Amino acid sequence: MIDLVFRDALVVDGSGGEPFRGDVAVDGGVIVAVGRQLDVEAARTISADGLALMPGIIDSHTHFDAQITWDPTLSPSPALGVTTAVIGNCGFTIAPCRPADRELTMKNLTQVEGMSIDALRAGIDWGFESFGEYMAQLRKRGSVANVAAYVGHSSLRTYVMGADAARRAATDAEIAQMQAIVRDAMAHGAVGFASSTSPAHNGAGGLPMPSRLASDAEMAALVGAMAEGGRGVYMLTKGAHTQIAFLESLAAATGRPVMVAALLHNSVAPRAVFDDLDAITAANARGHRLLGQVSCCALTMDFTLASPYPVEGLVSWKPALGKDGAELRAILADPAFRAGVRTELATATTFRLFNGQWGQVHVVETARASNAPLEQRSLADIAAATGRDPLDAMLDLALDEDLATVFTAQLLNSDEAAVARMLNHPHSIVSLSDAGAHLTFFNDAGFGLHLLGHWSRDLGAMSLAEAVRRLTSHPADVLGLERRGRLRAGDAADLLLFDPASVGLAAKRRVHDLPAGAARLTTDALGVHGVWVNGRQVADARGLVAGAPLAGELLTRFAA
Ligand SMILES: [Zn+2]
Repeated sequence: MIDLVFRDALVVDGSGGEPFRGDVAVDGGVIVAVGRQLDVEAARTISADGLALMPGIIDSHTHFDAQITWDPTLSPSPALGVTTAVIGNCGFTIAPCRPADRELTMKNLTQVEGMSIDALRAGIDWGFESFGEYMAQLRKRGSVANVAAYVGHSSLRTYVMGADAARRAATDAEIAQMQAIVRDAMAHGAVGFASSTSPAHNGAGGLPMPSRLASDAEMAALVGAMAEGGRGVYMLTKGAHTQIAFLESLAAATGRPVMVAALLHNSVAPRAVFDDLDAITAANARGHRLLGQVSCCALTMDFTLASPYPVEGLVSWKPALGKDGAELRAILADPAFRAGVRTELATATTFRLFNGQWGQVHVVETARASNAPLEQRSLADIAAATGRDPLDAMLDLALDEDLATVFTAQLLNSDEAAVARMLNHPHSIVSLSDAGAHLTFFNDAGFGLHLLGHWSRDLGAMSLAEAVRRLTSHPADVLGLERRGRLRAGDAADLLLFDPASVGLAAKRRVHDLPAGAARLTTDALGVHGVWVNGRQVADARGLVAGAPLAGELLTRFAA
């Protein structure tokens, strides 16, 4: 008698091969057989009745590093079909961290990943200092989904250089110390090394996140240290100034794959992302493994002027970065500041999160009843109706409400023809959910269900088998996750049972369930019937099951 058998499922096995009606048998957390009609007896039989069964979704770009220390359920990802989450992307980790740097690390995360400082202070369990101790804590506490962790550049830079990490280049001696930490982290099971050179990534006090101060020599030294054991993935969220040719040189020197983020389509510079993808294709033709992380979600961000992520990458916004209270309000009211922002938005550039498309910025929630009629209207519309400039309209409204007004901006990836090409590109990887971060701005943790429902079923941009492959065996193979990403005898029983006719995402909604009552956006699944991690059910059609088992494994061994 085995544990579990699924009968008469549409088996979409993750390989990209043709789906077929059949059975999948599970025992001891492992898939023991896949076939048309299995001759097995199981303690539990699930009649799938034509529902699709696929491997669980692998989310290669999350930021659960802090949340996992207070929320082992990794909400909301497992209920959205995710059975493996990779943390530490962009290098924004919380280990290693000296006790004296905890406050700085939390302030960095607050700024760069839009996490409430109150939630972080109340929530993070700091029972570690080194990366190895962090991993030991994760293993001891457990989690609902499997987790793999990058060692993060900004954290190890802060560990070695303290507050100087965000101010200057490292000395040779400091680079050598950082290399030692990378080697130690790899020995403790890091999946790779993650970093960022993106100007959108600012930390405490509006200073750049530490990794942005790294020289090319520092970057090369750390990627080299990662690769010494013959494994590991180098993940980088790159600024426009970081050339693909430099990243290719690192792939060539180390033989390790480079994951390049964040390749998003920008309608004001529609070629830019394809130029990067072309350069990545050329690198692969020369035998160097580069992949572009692309997103299947339109990047729409909710924000307030107290923390306006969409504009914080602007040079002209610098005076306001890291400021709050009366000081911030005075800057936002200053006509010279506003003139600077207007001038910059009117200047062409290759990449910018927000480009003055005021018709795509809407008022979501006003604080004063007298402003309520403005809700759901675009700033272009509001400005035109009052004969004002849209930037003035936005800032004046926010100042009138003590910066509590919630706006939403559709920023990137809204051109579906372009995004379909990116999703189907031979050297792209479908990723970039940013789950666990930007919780008040957006929530794309359900990206996998969106790929299955919106892109595959509704738009026909790719077959169901290909969409499933993109979410499962493809990331598993790139990351070296052994025995995951396929429905195959001997592999781990990470499973998602869903209805292809209805799979997708419900509308986003705001909940106040973070530590200290902080708010976040969340999304519910549509069409999900069950999620299993290592053979144990963690979610059903209503979401996470009550008392969901901590069935996830901390992944520390990876294929070369
Ligand atoms: Zn990220």
